[in-house]
Amino acid sequence: MLANLEVQSVPAGFETLNLIKPICRAVREEKYDSPTPIQEQAIPHLVQGRDLLGCAQTGTGKTAAFALPVLQWLEKNREIPGPKGARTLILAPTRELAAQIHESFRIYGRYLNIKQAVVYGGVRQGLQVRALSRGVDVLVATPGRLLDLLNQRQLRLDKVGVLVLDEADRMLDMGFLPDIKKVCAAIPSKRQTILFSATLPEEIVKLSKSFLNDPVKVSVNPPSSTVDKIEQKVLFVDREDKSALLESLLTEGGSLERVLVFTRTKHGANRIAKRLTKMKISTEAIHGNKSQPARLQALEKFRAGVVRVLVATDIASRGLDVDGITHVINYELPKESESYVHRIGRTARAGALGIAVSLCDAGEKSYLKKIEREINRPLTVDIDHPFHSESIAAKRSGGKPDSGNYFKGRGRGRGKGGANGSAARSGGKTKSSSFSRRGPAGRLANGRKSTGNRGRG
Ligand code: AMP
Repeated sequence: MLANLEVQSVPAGFETLNLIKPICRAVREEKYDSPTPIQEQAIPHLVQGRDLLGCAQTGTGKTAAFALPVLQWLEKNREIPGPKGARTLILAPTRELAAQIHESFRIYGRYLNIKQAVVYGGVRQGLQVRALSRGVDVLVATPGRLLDLLNQRQLRLDKVGVLVLDEADRMLDMGFLPDIKKVCAAIPSKRQTILFSATLPEEIVKLSKSFLNDPVKVSVNPPSSTVDKIEQKVLFVDREDKSALLESLLTEGGSLERVLVFTRTKHGANRIAKRLTKMKISTEAIHGNKSQPARLQALEKFRAGVVRVLVATDIASRGLDVDGITHVINYELPKESESYVHRIGRTARAGALGIAVSLCDAGEKSYLKKIEREINRPLTVDIDHPFHSESIAAKRSGGKPDSGNYFKGRGRGRGKGGANGSAARSGGKTKSSSFSRRGPAGRLANGRKSTGNRGRG
């Protein structure tokens, strides 16, 4: 056993992080070349047991940044959790994110003898209760269901030694603060606490002051800089032409391989999915009204490339980690500019590039303004599409016009109806060098090959 705990050198960079052999082996098999900046900054402190306040978005490798040290802590502090007990707890805002984190632990911990469980709402609790009955090393949970189980005495948190709050800003947005406080109160105060958040608003700083003990602060990718790798366009279009424009984007070019479409409402997501399916464009929708199994199934199909288009609302998309999304289409602009950054961050994952297209009608100009302020630059206006609305564009200043991106060869702003015979340009991008996996499994953005782990790694 001791031999197993020796630090092993792994591909460039990881050897400096003092990770034990079985973890290094799992990382190596994921074909990670080197640690991402957040891993580089966070892991050395976390393996020393420090509390940490991390500012990083999904897509930066933050899951491994906390999962690897948590696994190492478990291996070095072997203790039996006892019936219904948990040794470490990871709280996440959504079911999808919880499921993905759970999967990541399974992958990174595959050479350790780790018992783990995931609990979230929207499904019957029977199986979750059973999974917890003998105790687990890693428990990943959404706050609501966790608290339910705690109140029903199906769970004990008195053995928890490490607590992770992932996407803390989102948990606060979703009103989980009271639940989080109750959960924290049930955990021994002598613990390591790790808080990750995509943004650091005042409430998060306050939260970190009450929950964290002398934390190390690390930060990568302030929200607006994530978007640098993403080619961003805005297409001005009348509201009533949006669905026709979406359809032409999807049908007239071969480059939109794996496309995530965002709507503001669940109803809107369903409507679009129905229309596209009718047009024989394989599409699924995920939103809060769908059952958990239906959401997971839709996600799986999207990951596997069985469906080309996934239509999602903001809540359902949080933490969504699918490699090789070539395009994000904002069918409707989000009211909150931060959501825009989160949405488009679903493409350009793991160092890859991506394209984000926003369809903006007259009523959404104020949202566009907020977005541009958030990312600190104007979006490129693409006027070369058949539904371009000159009147909406005319009222806008800034943002250099661009043509030929989706409807190459087509006359500009032809008005409604959609000319035909155009070919879309090749929009699929190659990966950038900021961080990548090695070998064939590492082809990330071309949509052809993902990690093979079908989730975040
Ligand atoms: P996350 O930010 O945790 O959602 O991770 C985003 C994606 O990056 C996931 O698909 C991970 O598998 C991948 N990833 C994490 N760490 C690395 C790394 N060091 N090198 C390459 N890919 C990574």
